[in-house]
Amino acid sequence: MAEVFFLPVEKAATPRKVMFKLLEELIVEELFAGCNTVAIKIHIGERGNTTYVHPSYVAAVVSWLRERGFDAFVTDTTTLYVGPRSTAISCMEVAAENGFTLESLGAPFIVADGLKGEDGVLYKCEWIKGHVVEIARAFYEADAILVVSHGKGHGMTGFGGAIKNLSMGCVTKATKRYQHSPYRPFLAFPELCTGCGECVKACAQKAVTLVEGKPVFRYEQCISCGGCVVRCPTHALAVPEDAIEEFNRRVGWVAAAVVDAFRKWRKPVAYITVAEQITKLCDCVPKPNEIVARDVGFLASTDPVAVDCASIDLIEEYMYPEYGGFANLNGVDPKLHLREASARGAGELEYVLVKL
Ligand code: SF4
Ligand code: SF4
Repeated sequence: MAEVFFLPVEKAATPRKVMFKLLEELIVEELFAGCNTVAIKIHIGERGNTTYVHPSYVAAVVSWLRERGFDAFVTDTTTLYVGPRSTAISCMEVAAENGFTLESLGAPFIVADGLKGEDGVLYKCEWIKGHVVEIARAFYEADAILVVSHGKGHGMTGFGGAIKNLSMGCVTKATKRYQHSPYRPFLAFPELCTGCGECVKACAQKAVTLVEGKPVFRYEQCISCGGCVVRCPTHALAVPEDAIEEFNRRVGWVAAAVVDAFRKWRKPVAYITVAEQITKLCDCVPKPNEIVARDVGFLASTDPVAVDCASIDLIEEYMYPEYGGFANLNGVDPKLHLREASARGAGELEYVLVKL
């Protein structure tokens, strides 16, 4: 059974002490022995978001690595949707605005998937049919990877942590699109459509046009973000009934492919999850986000499934009663994507919690 180290928030001192303690407990120095360049995978947060993992924690990880002779860089990938982080240039601007600078981190922030989010290394695995996973090139070129995640709710996976950070966060746009594609909108109730054009305005991809007062979708441009469905005032649009389940299956499959690739490429990986400022939705939300639980603390493991399962179980203990758990929070089973990942060798659903 996988070990998950847990440092409760009451015992946490400075970010430096927290991160140093976790990295020591994981014996990362031994795990990364023989490695030179370490990629620290984070989520920089959307422009306007305020609840992503604070740069001071990432800076502490950089210090620990640098003091032990590792070369470190901090990294994230571009978004699939058109927005403030959809190219490397804009992504680096948002990173700087959100506090991830060379001065604050002690290491540079670089974008892992190239200028336009298309620079990756193909990795074929038997459990994904009809798509070859494309892993962002910086992870292929690094010697070791430290995945620092924010434990919080997520509108489409129920919970977002290490597995989500691997599946969506470590791949190029092509594989992000593969995961999102089941969430394909269509005009489910033509009789409710008033021809108002709100769906056209909602689509930054320009994938919707009105033809004779009704929406027509260009699916080759659609990135399945769901924006038009949410914006339609009469609820005339919908996505296929099994879209959420299929999306979660794909998230789990891709995460397992990334873990499998890292193993085959002999890249050691460690996972740290910060369970503070726990929000209903993910760090892609471009505004201050609703807090749903008391701060829990910090978790660490070499198993991404186990660290997510432990995070979910712990956070649910600290969640304000009116929210009623992750499944209730966004109407999605938070462990569905974890079970899919686990079934394909990404890690274990059972864990032993080691309280520090
Ligand atoms: S889901 Fe709707 S808003 Fe999003 S890209 Fe597709 S058509 Fe556009
Ligand atoms: S937003 Fe809804 S009601 Fe308005 S045009 Fe689009 S589908 Fe029709």
